[in-house]
Amino acid sequence: MLEYTPDRRPTGGLRLPAHKEASTAQPIARGFVPGTLILALQQHQGPPTTPVVRRGERVLKGQVVARARALRSAAVHASTSGHVRAIEDRLVPSVHAIHRTRCIVIDADGEDETRPGSGAAWPKDPEEQLEHIRDGGIVGLGGGVFPTAEKLRPHTPCKVLIVNGVECEPYISCDDMLMREAAAEIIDGALIMRDLLAAPECIVAVERDKPQAIEALLEAGRASGDASLKLADIPTVYPTGGERQLVEMLTGEEVPSTHYPSEIGYICQNVGTAYALHRLVRAGEPLLSRVVTVAGEGIARPQNVETPIGTPIGELIEFCGGYVGDVDRLILGGSMMGYALPNDEMPITKGSNCLIAAVRREVRQDFSERFCIRCGNCATACPARLLPQELLRAARDNDHALLDEFGLNDCIECGCCDVICPSHIPLTEVFRNAKFAHARYQRQEVFSAETQQRFKRHEERKRANVQRGKARQDHLRHEVETDEAARQKAIEAAIKRARQRRGNDSDAE
Ligand code: SF4
Ligand code: SF4
Repeated sequence: MLEYTPDRRPTGGLRLPAHKEASTAQPIARGFVPGTLILALQQHQGPPTTPVVRRGERVLKGQVVARARALRSAAVHASTSGHVRAIEDRLVPSVHAIHRTRCIVIDADGEDETRPGSGAAWPKDPEEQLEHIRDGGIVGLGGGVFPTAEKLRPHTPCKVLIVNGVECEPYISCDDMLMREAAAEIIDGALIMRDLLAAPECIVAVERDKPQAIEALLEAGRASGDASLKLADIPTVYPTGGERQLVEMLTGEEVPSTHYPSEIGYICQNVGTAYALHRLVRAGEPLLSRVVTVAGEGIARPQNVETPIGTPIGELIEFCGGYVGDVDRLILGGSMMGYALPNDEMPITKGSNCLIAAVRREVRQDFSERFCIRCGNCATACPARLLPQELLRAARDNDHALLDEFGLNDCIECGCCDVICPSHIPLTEVFRNAKFAHARYQRQEVFSAETQQRFKRHEERKRANVQRGKARQDHLRHEVETDEAARQKAIEAAIKRARQRRGNDSDAE
């Protein structure tokens, strides 16, 4: 395995305090079994799954409780044994917000009994392999939760598979710990993906501030003996781990804002996803758990925990010793892109990578916004090469044409401009809201364009009908006139014949 440092520097970004020392001070805690599971039917990007269990039914660990009916979906499994208490709507955290969705609520029985026959063999046929991945519930564990089977079926041939171990956001350390402890499994999962994609090259990208992870991956990569594997050590700058930023830094190719990286031949998969795929293929284990970082000064024992999917957040916090001090905010995700939760009753889903119980001094308190002084700091920090100060003006003026021109949809909501702004302007929040409003505006534009098109077609049809009717009338009139002329001709001929007959008769007399 070749180790190298990419020539290119990251665009924009910030060097932020990591806040990862406490959670990386001990190994990943394993063997945690919760008392309740709340399994959302939709915890991936795509159509929801369909429940296949009933209220009161006993389910075993590894059993499918909701099946994927669409290609862009992924099955949901019971992550411990117990009885189905209810199938009902609950509030569940998703990638950027909380949403209400159907959930299967299971009372765990503490036996953690595994379904017999778990460990189904990895099929030989590539199509069946993708189906096996969908049935195994595997989704992107970096936060995107895109169904992995679909991502491994790109429309454009894959030039490079990028395995993303760039965990640049403060507080989050689940990938770092997984790379340290399960490097061989991650490399194996990466090679399975590489084979499925028939990619000629596979680059594992890790930030330079993770020397133990780099060492473990290099050792595992060398042991695999695979010549297509490379390890790129990346500068520690937030947010280099974003897919577009990473592709550009590793390959020099800029991903057009209208495209996904896969459309130009680059597939990015998180290290946690590679690990989950290894578990599915080698041990037949579907996605039942994920590593979650529990951090912040408001937690008694900050650490990484292998957490069964569906665990209520409150139970996970209890497992880590509970809350300490004056917790100001409970954040799901990192300190930059995460969002505050209203309570700890919601479950850990496949996309939940970090939980921060932050005390007052860890969160921003100064919300006294001042005028933009046009210092340009935000533009320097923006990794997407945007002009946040201009976007701000366009967003506040509700100027959708200008928002398009300044590339609002290219904003990855990284929060760099917020952190750097001396006027404390909540730029990211403004852009997030503007994106919703802009999407609504674009939908309305499309709708009104379609309505106009429909009206135009209706008018054309009407005009065509009128013309057709006129032509038909002309034709009928012509037919009638022709008939009339023929009738007149026939009458005249008959009169002529009658006269001739009469003339002949008088001659004879
Ligand atoms: S950093 Fe803040 S004050 Fe400076 S230009 Fe940007 S929005 Fe204006
Ligand atoms: S939040 Fe958007 S505009 Fe601000 S720095 Fe990040 S990408 Fe740029």
